[in-house]
Amino acid sequence: MPVVRLQNVSKSFNNQPVINDLNLDVHKGEFLTLLGPSGCGKTTVLRLIAGLETCDSGALFINGRDQTRMPACDRDVNTVFQSYALFPHMTVFDNIAFGLKLKKTPARQIRERVKETLALVKLAGLETRSIHGLSGGQQQRVAIARAIVNQPLILLLDEPLSALDYKLRKQMRLDLRQLHRKLGITFVFVTHDQEEALTLSDRVVVMNHGTIQQTGTPKDIYETPVNLFVADFVGESNIFDARVARTSGSDMEIHFQGIVKIVQNRRNFKPGQAVKVLLRPEDMTVTRIQAQCAAGSLPGRVTEMIYKGTTVDLIIRLDSGQEVFVTEFFNEDEQDIMYDVNEPVCISWIKGWEVTLADE
Ligand code: ATP
Repeated sequence: MPVVRLQNVSKSFNNQPVINDLNLDVHKGEFLTLLGPSGCGKTTVLRLIAGLETCDSGALFINGRDQTRMPACDRDVNTVFQSYALFPHMTVFDNIAFGLKLKKTPARQIRERVKETLALVKLAGLETRSIHGLSGGQQQRVAIARAIVNQPLILLLDEPLSALDYKLRKQMRLDLRQLHRKLGITFVFVTHDQEEALTLSDRVVVMNHGTIQQTGTPKDIYETPVNLFVADFVGESNIFDARVARTSGSDMEIHFQGIVKIVQNRRNFKPGQAVKVLLRPEDMTVTRIQAQCAAGSLPGRVTEMIYKGTTVDLIIRLDSGQEVFVTEFFNEDEQDIMYDVNEPVCISWIKGWEVTLADE
């Protein structure tokens, strides 16, 4: 039984549909991330689960019980907001203890729970500090502590890391994963940051215009996107127009830019059909041009080289006019991967070819 089920849920604001007939199951104990561009409806889904918005149609089940009309305060769900939403005039202790006091939990139990929870979010000993004196990262940890202190069934997190600087965000990602593992409760996380979604989640739900485009593990989403939107939104993509020349059993021959390749025909494409081929930057490699490019590779010129320490990102304009993005990795045995702008190069493929999408 899913811990949350949204069944044919729709929601509009001012007659503008925001969520369209959405179906989603959240499994017990998983770390599920809603990923999508700004305005696609991620926060609205979270707020529907929290009970801060009501469904116009459809139903919402929590632990198998229909809670479509249940008020937020009666749901076993807590939310961590991007803005932290702490009480600034209260101490760390009082912020975290607030909900427990409302529920008339005995004082000794409150002290113990707050202490344990502060240790879990790595703020042990900060009970008496005022919120004002804390850094943004510490305030976010207090907000998380407040949301987990009463051990809810589900923790909802709405872009909780977006206000933090890059280094702190990376640290908080690791800490969130560990916290999730230790607590064993279900996390539903919202972000528009694909790297965050891929690194944190057991499953990712990619949304666009109030609908789910794809649900899967980070590996599924990155390696086998089901459509162009997911391919383009998650990770860097180079997308080529191709044509199916022939099909044979589960294989097909595709042609593009003078290249002929046999690939798996996963979507029952037909001869003559236009398709898109997706290649990730790390699926391709660049070589210095000798006399001419070998068969199966494409000529172009470097337009940008970005040194990143462990990798070099190259933007290359192919002779066909298309720009491609290639990542080269430093490796002792390999050729020099530093190129000059405007240097002529050849591009070939080291893996990939498996992602062929309909030309939508
Ligand atoms: P972001 O990443 O920018 O927060 P999102 O994917 O979380 O975006 P939502 O916050 O769910 O998107 O908003 C989806 C759409 O619904 C937006 O166009 C937004 O303006 C609109 N919307 C959300 N809440 C309300 C509201 N209470 N009243 C009117 N419109 C709303």
